[in-house]
Amino acid sequence: MTLHLDDRQRAMLLEMGVRVWLPGAAFALAPQGAGDTAATDPVRLPAQRPVPAPPPTAPVLAPVLAPAAGLQALQNMDWAALAQTAAQCQACGLCAGRTHSTLDAARASQARWMVVGDPPDDQEDSAGQAFVGDNGTLLDNMLKAVGAVRTGGALPQGMDAAYVTKVSKCRVPAGRVPQAAELAQCSAYLQREIALVRPQVIVAMGRFANQVLLAESPEAATLPLGRQRGTVYRYQGVPVVVTYAPQALVRNPADKAKAWADLCLAMDVLAAGT
Ligand code: SF4
Repeated sequence: MTLHLDDRQRAMLLEMGVRVWLPGAAFALAPQGAGDTAATDPVRLPAQRPVPAPPPTAPVLAPVLAPAAGLQALQNMDWAALAQTAAQCQACGLCAGRTHSTLDAARASQARWMVVGDPPDDQEDSAGQAFVGDNGTLLDNMLKAVGAVRTGGALPQGMDAAYVTKVSKCRVPAGRVPQAAELAQCSAYLQREIALVRPQVIVAMGRFANQVLLAESPEAATLPLGRQRGTVYRYQGVPVVVTYAPQALVRNPADKAKAWADLCLAMDVLAAGT
């Protein structure tokens, strides 16, 4: 496909650390030459995107199964009831460390884009919101680069809405990772969010978000991220593209070019309307 980048999107890509030429990346952005006169520049995206080799010590994750009985009532709830239930939920042990659930009814909206991140960190737990601080700023810039803004505010003309959430609504105690059973329990909330948001594409950002959203592709769910990338999966009937967590990109800016390639794949999905 051909992607046109305007000045704002170019600025966002620069903010992400993605330059107009990406050596070794899955695609190339056309250099902005001195002779450019139009407001937008054509960018070619080749059809094939190579999948990088996995790291030698990739962790093995347990598959995430369906939530246990007891949370079925969520599937009939509206946004307000869902957020209130999450704020008081004791369905798994993660409730013990919760200050605030990150399921924020103030951001409730249908949206073409949905972003699902790893369990909340301390900042997100304190704020009761997904993706805050430096990670949130980077995510907002990534979204702007694809022409989307978070739900919860005014939608600028010509922009798409993006609903952002966390794969679990409660933070995980320091020193351990979320258990497959905890992620499975909280997936009942995620499933209701998906039904309410009705996204056309889901971007899974991070190891644990991927673990849940690839539950219907068990052969891929336990692979390292490098081998999961470049494929369009399905969850609850919605196309899913996986990529790096913003916090990982903040730590390792070299992966921002790969994350941009993943966002381009998500844009391909939207453009195809599959
Ligand atoms: S992580 Fe999810 S399932 Fe577990 S207590 Fe929190 S809201 Fe409930």
